[in-house]
Amino acid sequence: MKKNALILLLLSLSVILAACQTKQPPNPSAPKAQSAAASPAVQPAASPPTVPAPTPATSPMPMPSPVSAETKPAPAPVSSAKPAYYMNSSYFIKPLDEKGNRKVVLLTFDDGPKKKEMVDQMLDVLDKHHAKAIFFVNGYRVKENPELLKEIHDRGQTIGNHSWDHIDLSKLPKEKIEQQIGDVQSIVKQLTGETPVFFRPPFGTGKGFVKEVAKEHHLLFMTWSNGSLDWADNKENPQGVIQSVLDQLNPGSNILMHELPWTVQALDELLSKLEQKEYGFVDPKAIEIKLDK
Ligand SMILES: [Zn+2]
Repeated sequence: MKKNALILLLLSLSVILAACQTKQPPNPSAPKAQSAAASPAVQPAASPPTVPAPTPATSPMPMPSPVSAETKPAPAPVSSAKPAYYMNSSYFIKPLDEKGNRKVVLLTFDDGPKKKEMVDQMLDVLDKHHAKAIFFVNGYRVKENPELLKEIHDRGQTIGNHSWDHIDLSKLPKEKIEQQIGDVQSIVKQLTGETPVFFRPPFGTGKGFVKEVAKEHHLLFMTWSNGSLDWADNKENPQGVIQSVLDQLNPGSNILMHELPWTVQALDELLSKLEQKEYGFVDPKAIEIKLDK
């Protein structure tokens, strides 16, 4: 009898335990389900441990694929290039070393970025000729076409500051000039991670506080020394653009062009003709930024 009572007690205990166990699980399992549902990241995090196991075997093969990462170091030498040129007071580009190559030109394109078709074509032609240029951009254009600015930068070209609104800055109060120049510095930095170091005022007007404000932003001020006249006499005339540049060609010419259809059309032939005359294209990144004057 005592045995039976003991067995009964044990049985009832086990029943209670079993009941508790079946009751308990729902509670822990509920929070688990909740946490899993609440944070899907847990699932991806849990799955990798099983993935890494097989990968070590195959990893020797994928390892070489990071070769694509080796394309990143490539841009580094470009940006770390030591200055080999400087700009003189007449805005010509000259070698720092007397023995350096004098037969070079600086290519510049103002007033963009406007249209993808034009920008793409310009970048393709520059690449074809292994040429670098400064794209002097306006802030309002950048705001309209941020992806074009990034494209220009990503393809290794240099962004310059051409003010926000493309208005005559020379008659503006200093605070307005500050805004016109500073806002472009900010938006370019925001989009590309780099702050411009070159400044060209609209219409080449550097009077008033313009030069002072540019200097405060550590910008090298320039106008140009070779005007393609693509904005004037050579409107809609690609051959005229080429001829004007060649007529004014000198060692160190700082060539002013614009993002305009006829200039885009002229570009390949112009660069070929400059090469035939054994002129090289200065990488703007190789120009010393000296703000003494
Ligand atoms: Zn302009």
